[in-house]
Amino acid sequence: MIDVTILGSTGSIGRNTLDVLARHPERFKVVALTAHGNVAAMSEQCQRWQPRLAVLRDPQAAAELKVALRQAGVATEVASGAEGLVEAATQGDYVMAAIVGAAGLLPTLAAAKAGKRVMLANKEALVMAGPLFMSAIRQAKATLLPIDSEHNALFQCLPPDFQQGLGDSGIERLLLTASGGPFLNTPVEQLAEVTPDQACTHPTWSMGRKISVDSATLMNKGLELIEAHWLFAASPQQLDVVIHPQSVIHSMVVYRDGSVLAQLGQPDMRTPIAHALAWPERIAAGVQPLDFCQLNQLTFQLPDERQFPCLRLARAALAAENGSSAVLNAANEEAVQAFLDGQLRFIDIAAVVEDTLAAVDAPVPTSLDDVLALDAAARRQARLCQRQREVSY
Ligand code: NAD
Ligand code: MG
Repeated sequence: MIDVTILGSTGSIGRNTLDVLARHPERFKVVALTAHGNVAAMSEQCQRWQPRLAVLRDPQAAAELKVALRQAGVATEVASGAEGLVEAATQGDYVMAAIVGAAGLLPTLAAAKAGKRVMLANKEALVMAGPLFMSAIRQAKATLLPIDSEHNALFQCLPPDFQQGLGDSGIERLLLTASGGPFLNTPVEQLAEVTPDQACTHPTWSMGRKISVDSATLMNKGLELIEAHWLFAASPQQLDVVIHPQSVIHSMVVYRDGSVLAQLGQPDMRTPIAHALAWPERIAAGVQPLDFCQLNQLTFQLPDERQFPCLRLARAALAAENGSSAVLNAANEEAVQAFLDGQLRFIDIAAVVEDTLAAVDAPVPTSLDDVLALDAAARRQARLCQRQREVSY
């Protein structure tokens, strides 16, 4: 029996993880679940899975959960706060890191330091603190498996020793595919008017709201370039993005001899989740294989950085080789939240990120404290930049 912890169990990745686990009760046991503050969802999950520990970040919600579980006769221990999340992250053998945003950094890092199998969905942690995170993984001899569908696809197409860097491995490039999001064919002039609900309606994937907005701006692909850089020791020149609206090919590795290896499948996160849970074996995920005779055309095009300036900003942050990635991530989180709250126009997300990058000095962070200080400084600056662009609908 393998003990599994899920950080962010009430979210889209968290629920998909439980769906896969439910198919393999003989193989996995849930030992800890965490979420931000959704008492009803967490209470239901605890009744179903009977974990040893449940953590809600919000102390008030955790107190309500305690009462609800006592009434339901569930023996799960309840904790709260940042310390509770870290405690959960050190339980079990495998940890699904699926908290959204910078809030996931400390618990995900704790799982790495505890030498767990870390199944990484929380790309923001790696974007903020790539070198620190990767060195924690190496030092603790933890196993890091990517959940992001593109990186999971690349992992499946790379040779087993790629961790040494792509230098002598015969690999020319890693090609990340991007669906292009809901506004791929929307004229730039119309982007000012789009609403949060429009931005969150993704053509091929069903996801949480923050990553849905990131997919609509293509910042998600920018964050994924940075994620790939750290995960696979790939240089910025070895990383490319190609728009592939059907989301059938999840990414590709281009080898020196002209071979291109691709991983294909339904756009369903249960596939990468099952891959990481079972690796190096394979287990059922509840996902039907592709039916090639039913597939329409597979098409590809270059991303337009005028339409999607966030991609250009992320590339520049990666190339800067300093703390810019942490600034980019923090400013983006603030701007996306403001957009979701109706306080910022869609097109101003990129503008706020760009203004923040220009205003914040971003030396190379050498410690976790440096990363957190940079994150806080970038958020303060982003809120200032935001106010200058604020609009009321
Ligand atoms: P979501 O919004 O659906 O779920 C987020 C989870 O994190 C919830 O359980 C929520 O309670 C918890 N959470 C939010 N803020 C928190 C905080 N401050 N402290 C503690 N917990 C908090 O998000 P999601 O779509 O599941 O995405 C999760 C992560 O996985 C993100 O980093 C995202 O980029 C990545 N990811 C998601 C998908 C997908 O298909 N959804 C695909 C690839 C990568
Ligand atoms: Mg992805």
